[in-house]
Amino acid sequence: MLDDINAAATLQALDAAYHFHPFTDHKDLHARGVKVITSAEGVFLHDDKGNKILDGMAGLWCVAAGYGRQELVEAAATQMAKLPYYNTFFKTTNEPAVRLAQRLAQITPEGLNHAFFACSGSEAVDSALRTARVYWQTKGKPNKKIIIGREYGYHGSTTLGASAGGMADMHRQAGDMPNFAHVLPPYWYGKGGQMSPEEFGIYAAREVEKKIHELGAENVAAFIGEPIQGAGGVLIPPETYWPEINRICKENDILLIADEVICGFGRTGKMFGSDYFGIKPDMMTMAKGITSGYVPLSAVMLHDRVAEVMINDAGEYYHGFTYSGHPVSCAVALKNLELIENEGLVAAAEAKGHILRAKLAEAVGDSPLVGEIRGVGLIGAIELTADKRTRKGFAKKGRTGTICRDLFIENGLIMRAVGDTMVFAPPLTITESEIDTMVALAKKSIDQTY
Ligand code: PLP
Repeated sequence: MLDDINAAATLQALDAAYHFHPFTDHKDLHARGVKVITSAEGVFLHDDKGNKILDGMAGLWCVAAGYGRQELVEAAATQMAKLPYYNTFFKTTNEPAVRLAQRLAQITPEGLNHAFFACSGSEAVDSALRTARVYWQTKGKPNKKIIIGREYGYHGSTTLGASAGGMADMHRQAGDMPNFAHVLPPYWYGKGGQMSPEEFGIYAAREVEKKIHELGAENVAAFIGEPIQGAGGVLIPPETYWPEINRICKENDILLIADEVICGFGRTGKMFGSDYFGIKPDMMTMAKGITSGYVPLSAVMLHDRVAEVMINDAGEYYHGFTYSGHPVSCAVALKNLELIENEGLVAAAEAKGHILRAKLAEAVGDSPLVGEIRGVGLIGAIELTADKRTRKGFAKKGRTGTICRDLFIENGLIMRAVGDTMVFAPPLTITESEIDTMVALAKKSIDQTY
């Protein structure tokens, strides 16, 4: 069988034979055939059939500076020629890792001054959760182990990350470690009922407090949350939510971990989602936009108050990765941060986000399918509904976000379907005329969904 496939040798056939994909229903993939992406430039992808596709998701929320940036290619090549690899275990370091740690300390909120490096967002989350538990052990409170996350939260795919996240299917598939608890997300459109957004923000935050009291604060290590829940459907908390969470974590002696893997590096129109919402994290996880996805890299930023305990009292930290502080990844990240800064991409995200949402509202706001268009900076969503008044989702197959997504792709636009919600996060470099194209393709696809 594999010999036949090798003889036929189309990439699709080889992929079906040999490639086991992440987050994929393989039977469905093999029935439909995989799409081979061959190159990319700016905000556009090209496939092997000659199609040009507008990438309204910046890959997986990561290609902040756009595709085809030769500056990043050169930064990688230069560093590879000089020092392609050396580890940061056992009392060694390298210049890009040191310079990047310093740069991250400068651009993150005050007090987050110590960078731990890894490769993926999942590893960063895993590292932050372990650090939280070691922190409490070191402080003589070993029972403080429980991590509180939220329904629809996404914190990656390692077993700890899946357990911290609130995705039921991931819990079912062995992502349900002990010592995790989950609470209501601050998802006003779907869960707010008759409450105003402000009231619901306080209500949802107090659900965290209720959970802490139920579990006993003496047993809770940390609360982890994305400033905006991305993979859960771009759930944007009301402005009352995060200040209340700051208070609750502080008063109950619970570490606050902001998972900035999606929101970091300009996505919200501020450098970090924590800047946008006024979050005061003890630890911050970041990845994706840190290198615009060109090479893998992630980091956990530790606040001084956590780092002092870890450095002065915890002894050896038995945790780390072969590629922690990889010099090529760190060199690319430094160049990427320079591009973000020099090209004003953070402010651009804010300005273009307003334009994109206004144009979407004009184009599809009146569609009977469109319940809400929401966003902050260049992260947003169109939530589809079967009934604008009751905000009911689609029970009937055929009118869901998934059908919509297929139409979007056929029409040359990638947006991602989360249930009945179509989410978007284009590269921060998107131009106004590309926004027009994106809106026209979204309108065409939504109109065809009837
Ligand atoms: N945390 C958040 C908020 C994410 O959105 C993601 C990925 O989408 C992760 C963690 C996991 O990152 P990775 O896929 O790089 O492991």
